[in-house]
Amino acid sequence: MLPIRVRLTLIYSALLFLALFASGTAVVTLLRQRLNARLDEALDRRLQGVENFLIRETTAATAGKIPDELAEYASTQPEGHLIEVREAGNGILLKSDPVPYASRLRTRTFGMYGKQYDTKAWGSTEAIAESVEEIRFLFLWSSPVLLALIGLSGYWLSSRSLRPVDEMTQAARRIGAEDLAARLRVPPSNDEISRLAEAWNEMLKRLEDSFTRMQRFTADAAHELRTPLAALRTTAELSLRRSRNNDEYQQALRQVVEISHRMQALSETLLAIARGQVPNIEPGKVTTNIGELMDSLATEIQPLIDDKGLHLVCNLKPVFAEVDADSIRRVAAILLDNAMKYTPRDGTITLQTEDLGKTIVLRVTDNGSGIPADELPRIFDRFYRVDASRDRQTGGFGLGLAIARQIATAHGGSLEATSAVGNGSSFALTLSKTPASGGC
Ligand code: ADP
Repeated sequence: MLPIRVRLTLIYSALLFLALFASGTAVVTLLRQRLNARLDEALDRRLQGVENFLIRETTAATAGKIPDELAEYASTQPEGHLIEVREAGNGILLKSDPVPYASRLRTRTFGMYGKQYDTKAWGSTEAIAESVEEIRFLFLWSSPVLLALIGLSGYWLSSRSLRPVDEMTQAARRIGAEDLAARLRVPPSNDEISRLAEAWNEMLKRLEDSFTRMQRFTADAAHELRTPLAALRTTAELSLRRSRNNDEYQQALRQVVEISHRMQALSETLLAIARGQVPNIEPGKVTTNIGELMDSLATEIQPLIDDKGLHLVCNLKPVFAEVDADSIRRVAAILLDNAMKYTPRDGTITLQTEDLGKTIVLRVTDNGSGIPADELPRIFDRFYRVDASRDRQTGGFGLGLAIARQIATAHGGSLEATSAVGNGSSFALTLSKTPASGGC
């Protein structure tokens, strides 16, 4: 298939050829008709002149001298020799010169002194044919030049207007899966081309968003599995460091089984998030001692805390709430993991439970980097990270708090944060207290 610009040029040129042909034919025909009509008018005037002359110059008495008068008249008139005068019943009075092949004829009949005269006048159409020929020649030779000129300018114009499309095609080809942030240049023309570029950019944005979501989800899955995996490894490594007795091995293995269960639950949650579903935690709700639950979590993460040179302070009262224990444990793990990530060496992390009468609070506090006040409301958004470069080093992908808040909301509770840059942050998970909590 020919390129669009060539096709457009061919179409222009064909239309132009037709237009030139039609207008040329019309001009030539009209010109010929007009010139013929003028010649006819001149011939009619000439015949009228003959009649006027005869009436003026002859009388009934001198009617016999009409042929002489006519010969004299014809000799004084330009082209007078192409006139014929015939008296009805009496033959030719004035004989015309040989009539040219290309000529027009006009006739006139008039009566004088009781007789009837038929007159004829011829006019050569040679001059008309020449004029028409000149015009035809002009058209014939100017048309190809016009066609070439307009064809070339049409080609230039269509190339010019299609150039942004070519640029867009090349730019679109350069954009690969790794480069979805690139955008096409939108010409400032506010026309079809700029709207096409805008539509492309919107599509690229949608593609980029979903691609980023996919990438982040994969990264997030790894991120979420990192803490339990690290705990698994640390437990196994600690057990292997020296030989231990049967009980110690059994306890280590129980811990391994417990962590694996949580990892399984976690991967299911991640799958649910990937499908955009809120994790279904209703069936697992049981009255749970949150203090005790946190205590076991603290024991589990202690090796990680030590590894990072941090201090973990626990202030864990036995408070009860009706929850899905694994989910609440996951919330605490996310908060503790964040606290560990954003607190420098030697910093302190506090894990505490509080009984506020109708509600209980699980609080994770650190004295780390803190969060700027204007960012605070957004940290619970999915994929939101306060400082992308900082978090890339620490490996965060901005899903932890979103998952944590989703779990809190699913329990009818809330998860809120307070923070001051440089002074640390505090995250509070508030849940309804169950009557069984007892307040001990
Ligand atoms: P991430 O996996 O990046 O930690 P989160 O959803 O858990 O994602 O947290 C969102 C952002 O909130 C983090 O990127 C971080 O900038 C900020 N943040 C969360 N917890 C803390 C904290 N304890 N101290 C400082 N900043 C925090």
